[in-house]
Amino acid sequence: MRAPGKVNLSLRVGPLGPGEQYHQLTTVFQAVSVYEEVVARSSDERTVTVSGPQAALVPTDATNLALRAVEALAAATGTDEGVALHVDKGVPVAGGMAGGSADAAATLLACDALWRTGLSRAELLELAATLGSDVPFVLQGHTAMGQGRGELLTPALSRGEFHWAFAVRDTGLSTPAVYREFDRLHALADDPREALRRGGGVAVPPDPDDDVRLMQALRAGDPHALGAALHNDLQAAALELEPGLAEPLAVAQDAGALGVVVSGSGPTVAALARNRQHALVLAAAFTASGVADRVLTATGPVPGARIVAED
Ligand code: ATP
Repeated sequence: MRAPGKVNLSLRVGPLGPGEQYHQLTTVFQAVSVYEEVVARSSDERTVTVSGPQAALVPTDATNLALRAVEALAAATGTDEGVALHVDKGVPVAGGMAGGSADAAATLLACDALWRTGLSRAELLELAATLGSDVPFVLQGHTAMGQGRGELLTPALSRGEFHWAFAVRDTGLSTPAVYREFDRLHALADDPREALRRGGGVAVPPDPDDDVRLMQALRAGDPHALGAALHNDLQAAALELEPGLAEPLAVAQDAGALGVVVSGSGPTVAALARNRQHALVLAAAFTASGVADRVLTATGPVPGARIVAED
């Protein structure tokens, strides 16, 4: 199985209502050609092993998102079958690119095929949403608007190929911690000027109409217009927690990126390039300035999780 990571072209976060556990979001996802590879083999047990440059950061116990997907599918279909999974991680861990979600999506498809569950695509998507708000998107891939917690998807039209360079950090940012910081910044009500200075202020309910220019840029396949429309409401919170992120943002701008944005909850910084060659120039600028632990280049949009080989 192969499943892509994602970049949020736009991420708009609403206020947390009283008693609410999750923020209402409007986001536009693009699946990018940075992949998780998952191998699933029949087994009596349910296990996962992990490889890749950041494998040491990934748990292999029941908290691993791939094993959570196994348990969810087994519970939904009433099977006692096992599976031995191996995940080769290409997507940065805790990088805001949905690597764990991609593992869960790939695992759902793999076990569905291995166990011949007969679930429909709609049932798999519903199960995916119980595992995490990004899991339905990485199952579907391409480009989509996500609402609710991000799991309510509407496919979006997109023409052509966009080119990216990503500055990856070894120390990840926890998504819940970034949302807590977002809430703190927006709660600086006693000092509204300070809140605004730090990118806080009153959080407004997200409105899909805010992304009209972005959707037009995608339909036109216009990287310049897309670069100008990139947006992330979590960026200020990610920068508060990790001020060093200002460096890759500035480096990409200086190197002529059409747009640069923190991906999701960060800390990966995504820079939009004019073309493939320019993506390599941006990647070289990240490397030369020492602002990233690792650099990736990729294109998007790409398809979602799929079986690439079967024995
Ligand atoms: P998102 O963009 O969806 O918010 P992310 O890319 O920032 O997610 P992940 O890499 O998906 O973050 O995982 C975040 C945390 O979840 C990791 O720090 C790790 O401890 C835990 N985790 C559990 N299962 C996995 C997995 N299969 N791959 C990566 N991390 C996992």
